[in-house]
Amino acid sequence: MLGKLPAARHVAYSNFLDQNGDTLDRGIALFFSAPHSYTGEDVLELQGHGGYAVLQLVLQRCLNLGARLAQPGEFTKRAFLNGKLDLAQAESVADLIDAHTTEAARSAMRSLCGNFSEAIHSMVNELIHLRTLVEGMLDFPEEPIDSLDMARRDELLNNVRSKLQQTLKTAKQGSLLREGAYVVIAGRPNVGKSSLLNCLAGDEVALVSNIPGTTRDVVHQEIQIRGVPLHILDTAGLRESDDAIENMGIARAHQTIRRADLVLLLLDASGGLTAEDEIIFSGLPINIPRILVLNKTDLPTLENSSGMFADIPMLRISAKTGAGIELLHDRLLEAVGWHAQESGVFMARERHIRALDLAQAHLGQAQTEQGRIELFAEELRLAQRALEEITGEFTADDLLGEIFSRFCIGK
Ligand code: GDP
Repeated sequence: MLGKLPAARHVAYSNFLDQNGDTLDRGIALFFSAPHSYTGEDVLELQGHGGYAVLQLVLQRCLNLGARLAQPGEFTKRAFLNGKLDLAQAESVADLIDAHTTEAARSAMRSLCGNFSEAIHSMVNELIHLRTLVEGMLDFPEEPIDSLDMARRDELLNNVRSKLQQTLKTAKQGSLLREGAYVVIAGRPNVGKSSLLNCLAGDEVALVSNIPGTTRDVVHQEIQIRGVPLHILDTAGLRESDDAIENMGIARAHQTIRRADLVLLLLDASGGLTAEDEIIFSGLPINIPRILVLNKTDLPTLENSSGMFADIPMLRISAKTGAGIELLHDRLLEAVGWHAQESGVFMARERHIRALDLAQAHLGQAQTEQGRIELFAEELRLAQRALEEITGEFTADDLLGEIFSRFCIGK
């Protein structure tokens, strides 16, 4: 196609030729010979002009010569299978591409550079060290166990447990950056929910009107506050209604609230707190954190006639003037569990958190099995296995298929 193979890792300005030797396109050819390429295999990269028709011509020529189209994530999967990346790094390639906020992109890059994997490797190494010591005790059961060895064993176990705790904390932050948190804005009609959503989103996404019952469906808007993605859900005004469609919206609002990470209950300072507010407040699921926000504080405030809210702290804002919104940003981040960290957060997925949790549970169990050395050793083995699932040393094929199929084609 080029007439000759370009020198490896050199830029070659080339004609891309068809079967008759006619030029289809002219551009840059880069040849990476194995193992010095992204996948670890021989790779030829052609950079042409990129218009649709000319690209099709070049692509068709490659296919005629025996190439085939890559499956989603195939390049990265090959890189993983050839040991160029571990699984956590491979996943971070997709997370980097999918990152919606700058903070998420930075943390995905840290994972790609291996920060997360290094933390895992260092714990696995400590576990191996500890297991060697313990298996030694198992192999010579007739010998009395040295008290120095026992002390060393406790020390190693404590070390790895505290490292795991720290890693889990950072990974949870990374997972928050990846998944975002779900925040529901709840409140009776007309308290300013849509206005607040607009104010948080910085543009007009929800329909605002002063006719109660305007918001009939759940409006979903992704915003970011200091790089942390938040899915803000504006729900149908929660009230008794005769309108069948509005009632469907209200039912959906209740469903949405049950799945949320945080509920922001909006109250109207100018209308006063009413029995309707009390009903909504009492109906919020107790296990979901909530922030109470008093809106329309730019208007004259009506006396609080509800005893229920007397001692509950509220954040005073005005969705109209923007007063109090900065403070609301702080409170939102705090409530969804975001702590600005000095050392960078690395990107992590739900799968990683589950594996870290599992490893932590096994180490906790090991701690309680100190007297029964066989069980102690087994818990350590299971903890190591859970950690190695993160980097892909122990991973089922179907999990690999699932991870890579979610990549975009050609990555
Ligand atoms: P929702 O039904 O709870 O979504 O309420 P909307 O956002 O549609 O607002 C109802 C009415 O209250 C509209 O006329 C808004 O302009 C008005 N409103 C919302 N927030 C404020 C506020 O902070 N101050 C004032 N003065 N009016 C507001």
